[in-house]
Amino acid sequence: MDSDPQTAYGFHLLEGQSPAIRTLEGMRVSGRLPQGLLFSGMPGTGKSLAARTLMMVENCRDSEAPCGHCRSCRKILMDQHPDFIAIQPLNGVIRIDMIRKMIEQLIRKPHEARKRFVLLEDAHAMNREAANALLKVLEEPPDATSFILMTPEPQRLLETIRSRCQEIRFLPMPVKTLAEKLRPMAEDDAAAMSAARLACGNLLLGQSLIREDHKRKILARIFSHGLSLEPAKALALSEWLTPDRSGTEISLILMEGLFRDICLAATDANVLCIHGLFDDCRQEITEAGKKILPEQAMDMIQRIRDMRRHMDQNILPRLAMDAILMNPDNAACRCPAA
Ligand SMILES: [Zn+2]
Repeated sequence: MDSDPQTAYGFHLLEGQSPAIRTLEGMRVSGRLPQGLLFSGMPGTGKSLAARTLMMVENCRDSEAPCGHCRSCRKILMDQHPDFIAIQPLNGVIRIDMIRKMIEQLIRKPHEARKRFVLLEDAHAMNREAANALLKVLEEPPDATSFILMTPEPQRLLETIRSRCQEIRFLPMPVKTLAEKLRPMAEDDAAAMSAARLACGNLLLGQSLIREDHKRKILARIFSHGLSLEPAKALALSEWLTPDRSGTEISLILMEGLFRDICLAATDANVLCIHGLFDDCRQEITEAGKKILPEQAMDMIQRIRDMRRHMDQNILPRLAMDAILMNPDNAACRCPAA
């Protein structure tokens, strides 16, 4: 989810998204809002908030739209509007039955909205049958209905679907702005800056990283002694790093950031500031850089990235993390000369 639906609404909240808002407002005011919209951009950039606000503006009964308190606005804010149909992937997939159910709802006229909205979160998660079914509706959309497809990876959508939608790009938040936003939650400026850099413009991710900031420092301390962990320690660490899927994702981002800085320190301790992902753990990173070879750090980064890539397939996070931590320097095993 991009924002808290219970409290947040209004285009003014979408900091750094002026081009997207200008385009949307321009189309809306001129009465040329397309029936197919594609909101692209990473999570945390305000796509959900923009979609909800758009539906509110289009259906608000107040002159100051969106007012936030009329019947329509309130229902949308509480996710209870019968004409605001949201589809989310289930176990990572949007299947055809979900699209069919939505299409059945579209046969009837909107219950009460002037304009009905269908929101597809993570639209790239549609399988081929689902995508083909959606394409048929997009080719002949029902009256008074707009579709908003949201995805961080628009290239994964069928070209025929993309061509039926007007793409609105949501930009990553600049590091400095993000750090300022995270500062009230963070222990200090350095922690806010670290989270902002690691989050690459993703506000929600930045907030999660701040909540897990203690992990960042503990990881730096652990790996300042080198890569080899005693098996019992490695297993305990693995368990701690994989509490659930989202916790594991955060751990992987922290570890990748850590090893990127360690890799730099291993090459030359003085260039650590290029990434500066763990700037406030400089001493630990420098120590780690003396004990870990750049190619070992690179290998760890590669394994962490592999695991992140496979997280949306049904891997078992705990076992995958065990494998990374139990055999941290077996890069040689994969080398043909070994
Ligand atoms: Zn209203």
